[in-house]
Amino acid sequence: MSSAAENPARLDVAGLSAAPGERVSGLIEVDLGDLVVELPVVLINGSSDGRRVAITAGIHGAEYVSIAALRRVAMAVDPGRVRGAIVAVLTANPAAFAARSIYLNPLDRKNLNRVFPGDAGGSASERLAAWLDANVIAGSDLFIDMHCGDLNEALISFTGMELTGNRDVDALSRQVADAYGLDYLVIGPLPGSTTTAAATRGIAAVLGEVGGRGQWPEEDVSVHAAGLRRALVAAGVLPVSEANGPAGRVSTLLTREAWLRSDVNGYWHPAVEVGDLVLAGQPVGEVRDAFGAVRRAIEAPIGGVILFLVTSLAMNEGDPLLAIGAE
Ligand SMILES: [Zn+2]
Repeated sequence: MSSAAENPARLDVAGLSAAPGERVSGLIEVDLGDLVVELPVVLINGSSDGRRVAITAGIHGAEYVSIAALRRVAMAVDPGRVRGAIVAVLTANPAAFAARSIYLNPLDRKNLNRVFPGDAGGSASERLAAWLDANVIAGSDLFIDMHCGDLNEALISFTGMELTGNRDVDALSRQVADAYGLDYLVIGPLPGSTTTAAATRGIAAVLGEVGGRGQWPEEDVSVHAAGLRRALVAAGVLPVSEANGPAGRVSTLLTREAWLRSDVNGYWHPAVEVGDLVLAGQPVGEVRDAFGAVRRAIEAPIGGVILFLVTSLAMNEGDPLLAIGAE
């Protein structure tokens, strides 16, 4: 945005409303069928015109670095310095947060980030996805979804985006992902995810991932928060002077990804760490039985970097073991 025309419009999301130059925070009730949940939402309506950016954290309820980082930025940004508007859903899956649930929404045992764009008449996660898609993602110029490794996952920091075929949209996604400045940038679709739902609507979308394992050390929160601030600067929503915090880096581009899942229950013994570089065919771990006998010897299907790694000894059939990203 090169001009700084005055912003005349109120910012309204499902009954929450902010005047130009105002920050408003509140709980928005969303009916999920069997239960009404309250989403903590912050609206920041800039005093000058610009892009509308929607941001979510806590789509997975136990991803604390992302939740802590979004809250920090959303409550600190001065609306008077914002061009455009920010809609921030601080904890997008409150039932999963309360239950400290890994991957799944306890209300229907579904992964919220696999059911987008959702179904307003479906199960709890499908209704929540439909609500977020219609009220938060739709109508935005840019969508940012903040994640980290889950309660049982270590990860190396990365951003993600996909290509929509629209040059302007893809250029904005790339610009924002580059500004986020994490170790890796993974380009590719993730069906059923928030970012794919945004891309389907023709909205630029970026995923940010920092930290994990149920911890939220200041080191990780500040990296995620600083990345978000730089992303908002790149989108023209914040002035350059708001890009404070630890410096970003030039992300290594990855265009191929392999997610490895276990096809048996058992005990997971990884042989690698996150950030390790592995060769195709290299042993990366074993799923053993209760007595220690090897049930599955896992090899890397492609060479690349270990992006995330499940760190719990317990392993369930169908669950992820690790992901490898490759250039
Ligand atoms: Zn996640």
